[in-house]
Amino acid sequence: MRSISAILQSDFLTKEDIIALLTTEGEDKKLLFETSSRIKKQYVDDIVYFRGLIEFSNVCDKNCFYCGIRKDNVKIKRYNLSDEEIVNAAVFAWKNRYASIVMQSGELTGSTFVNRIDKLLKTIHQRTNRELHVTLSCGEQNKETYRRWMESGAHRYLLRIESSNPELYKKLHPDDEKHRFENRIKALRALQDTGYQTGTGIMIGLPFQTLEDLANDLLFMRDFDIDMVGMGPYIEHRDTPLYQYKDQLLSVDERFQLTLKMVAILRIMMKDINIASATALQAIDKIGREKAIKIGANVIMPNITPGKYRDDYKLYENKPCTDENAEDCSNCLEARIAMAENEVALGEWGDSLHFRMRNTK
Ligand code: SAM
Ligand code: SF4
Repeated sequence: MRSISAILQSDFLTKEDIIALLTTEGEDKKLLFETSSRIKKQYVDDIVYFRGLIEFSNVCDKNCFYCGIRKDNVKIKRYNLSDEEIVNAAVFAWKNRYASIVMQSGELTGSTFVNRIDKLLKTIHQRTNRELHVTLSCGEQNKETYRRWMESGAHRYLLRIESSNPELYKKLHPDDEKHRFENRIKALRALQDTGYQTGTGIMIGLPFQTLEDLANDLLFMRDFDIDMVGMGPYIEHRDTPLYQYKDQLLSVDERFQLTLKMVAILRIMMKDINIASATALQAIDKIGREKAIKIGANVIMPNITPGKYRDDYKLYENKPCTDENAEDCSNCLEARIAMAENEVALGEWGDSLHFRMRNTK
């Protein structure tokens, strides 16, 4: 087997290399993080882009076993922001020079939902002088819907693969038409074909997940030629089916460390993509997101959902910042990013460099 320093000098990582990097400790781990930090600076600079996150509804038609807002969780209060609240949040982002927002929700299909997003996109662009880039994260839709939303002004789309291992995917989702691995792949392909900057990601530290699965997830992202990635630790929620496996999980600290290593390895493998620092990191460590920025991530998503709703978008326990308003959230973030020796690029779209290069080939 190659030494860690030999692996870190090579241009193409194999599955075995990735597994070796995932198990690094001490000096080797330090070397991994130094390498990923250096590559980040070289390719995408020590710059962080803000995406104002609007969690506009927790109404969901699906039942993913890990997620606190799954359809069958009757213990949560469902909410749906009004169109005006959504547009106001977008205008807030624009005025504060975020340049970019993410609109995220539970997954709904059907014409009411599709038309609503369509109309919202048009209104947001009108009200912000077409200066705001919009990322959608509204689950699996058909190609025609993705095309319509792009025409109305969506630029990027986030759809996590959750796990690239079909067997593991099956264990995390109900066995029915709404939750098929093949549909997820098809949707990701449709996004890429439609011309979106396409983002995916996974959860780290899931029950039944192995290091080989994680290595394969990174290889999947490389093979798929993905433009953006958001991956974070899995955090259990007591009102979900996966909670029964809580005693079999890695400790939260181990999940946290593993996530940092995944971010660092991905930066080494895909040097010019956008990597988001997941909010779930902050649920474990108060400056968790800033730690990920230091070793490879370059996007952060301040929550700009009106404060009164944040508590109800609980995907997992200990979700951070649910009691802050949008101004508090961004002020506190800017200070912490400076601590991570990075700078926030306000007023810049922060498109994935990888996407731009791919499209000028
Ligand atoms: N409904 C859309 C979808 O599933 O793509 C977007 C919203 S969904 C809540 C966004 C992401 O939250 C999922 O892709 C999943 O990876 C993450 N998530 C859900 N439950 C989680 C948990 N318990 N711990 C960490 N992340 C979780
Ligand atoms: Fe719904 Fe997304 Fe949660 Fe699955 S992960 S239950 S689709 S909100």
